[in-house]
Amino acid sequence: MRRKRILWQLYPSYLLVILVSLAAVTWYASRQFRQFYLDRTAADLHARILLVEEEIRRELSAGRDEQTDSFCKKLSRASTRITVILPGGRVVGDTDNPPAEMDNHADRKEIRQALAEGFGRSQRFSHTLREELMYVAVPIEDKQKTIGVLRASIPVTSIDRALAAIQLRIAAAGLVVALFAAGVSWFISRQISWPLEELKHGAERFARGDLAHKLSVEDTREIGALAETMNQMAAELDGRIRDVVSERNQRDAILASMVEGVLAVDAEQHLISLNQAAARMLAVDARKAPGRSLREVVRNRRLQALVDGAFSGGDSLEDDIVLGDPRERFVHANASLLCDADGRRIGVLVVLHDVTELQRVDKIRRDFVANVSHELRTPVTSVKGFVETLLDDAIDKPEDARRFLTIVAQQTDRLSAIIEDLLTLSRIEQDAEKAELAVEDCPLKSVLEAALGVCRNKAARSGVALELSCAEELRAEINPPLLEQAVINLVDNAVNYSGKGSAVDVEAGREDGSVVIRVRDRGCGIPPEHLPRLFERFYRVDKARSRKLGGTGLGLAIVKHIAQAHGGRASVESTPGVGSTFSLHLPGAGSER
Ligand code: ADP
Repeated sequence: MRRKRILWQLYPSYLLVILVSLAAVTWYASRQFRQFYLDRTAADLHARILLVEEEIRRELSAGRDEQTDSFCKKLSRASTRITVILPGGRVVGDTDNPPAEMDNHADRKEIRQALAEGFGRSQRFSHTLREELMYVAVPIEDKQKTIGVLRASIPVTSIDRALAAIQLRIAAAGLVVALFAAGVSWFISRQISWPLEELKHGAERFARGDLAHKLSVEDTREIGALAETMNQMAAELDGRIRDVVSERNQRDAILASMVEGVLAVDAEQHLISLNQAAARMLAVDARKAPGRSLREVVRNRRLQALVDGAFSGGDSLEDDIVLGDPRERFVHANASLLCDADGRRIGVLVVLHDVTELQRVDKIRRDFVANVSHELRTPVTSVKGFVETLLDDAIDKPEDARRFLTIVAQQTDRLSAIIEDLLTLSRIEQDAEKAELAVEDCPLKSVLEAALGVCRNKAARSGVALELSCAEELRAEINPPLLEQAVINLVDNAVNYSGKGSAVDVEAGREDGSVVIRVRDRGCGIPPEHLPRLFERFYRVDKARSRKLGGTGLGLAIVKHIAQAHGGRASVESTPGVGSTFSLHLPGAGSER
């Protein structure tokens, strides 16, 4: 429905009231005026009758009809018409016409009235004169007997003309008054509607959220009070909205900083909210998901069943869920019922704990135990076997005994090497965990030279040349013995996997703000599928060759942990048949002096 402006409701009604009252007053006044005028005219006619009554009575009582008529004719100079009628209705005298030609007047209203009541008055259109006339008639009495009726008449058209002129003037004056009243009522209407319009605009701004806007308080008591109340309401609302927003922000901040994923669904299982962690775990968009159905967004049967169970059972439930997108994640989920203040079930809250890392660590631990057991069992089985063989006679055959004991000694060395490497690893890990690794700013060249010194004999035996390229002034924040150990491991591997006559280069320098040590060989290289796992404990590309070379499978794991303990990392690039380059990236805290 189209609603009218208050101005257009007030103004026309004001105008209507003014015009109707003006018209009513004009109509009433002209009626009263006309009536007064007619009464005055009737009184005037009556007075004129009284003036001539005596003369007419005399002529009538004497029965002198002709004299009566001629007396009437004499009066014709006055504008009033005088007629004398006998009680039977016959006209005996008239100012204008010969009585003989005139009708019987017994049926005329004023005549009947005069005869019956002593005074008659009427007003009607005269077809003879073609205008409206007023008639006043009185009986003429002689000796208690009515001998005739004397009638005077006058046209009233002039009255109407005079009245019309007066009405016209009243109407003109009324029009002026109406125009003035229209102006005043327009002004008053605007005075009333303008503050209301202001309030309306203010309320619209409030509705758009601009609650800081202040309505100007009007002089009018009611509108001023309304404006004040609306201002108070807006301020109150603003305060409450601020509270709600800050509470929501706090809640969002808490939820966003939680490691656990939190999601809530309503009774129809539409997502009400979910935090960043939950969105990450479920691989959904945290902004787009709310409002959509859980079934459609997550598509995980076990999570769905958990939510269904919590909602229908009213209990807290938990389950381990595997989420597969984009990579497999293991999640421990707790679902509990959400109830409102009246205890009605309104939804379910699900808390998701990502246990993927725990599972991974647990798997690593299990694998490690299995690997260690496996690595230790081989030499122990071998030692046990040879010792038993020795005990069964072989001890009496010196040559066999020597050979077996040599093998036992080798296996014991191997056992001790494994244990030594494991201890080194655990020591580095502990130091790194406690951040207790003692580092100092020292020149790298001396450390690299010491490492190469350790490997030099073995390299010479294998016919491999060792080259070092490192600026004298290159320094880094390092733990020298550990870094030396890492470089020894890398150079030892490079020598082991290089062919006779090739060379191993050790280079150190600055790259993009960090210190990089590279050990490059031109050996057999490593197939790409092994590279991602190469730094894992006990990971070997060629197990038999590694064992034959006396490797424990822990060398590169130690290198990686030493790099990490320094706050850096280890990396490898390799091409089968061309060679491998192992790099140690150390943070660039050291400076060239
Ligand atoms: P290992 O004691 O067996 O040498 P590492 O952890 O030092 O154990 O090395 C893991 C595996 O990586 C080795 O078994 C070997 O297969 C491979 N490897 C390491 N360094 C090289 C290299 N320079 N060239 C080719 N393969 C290498």
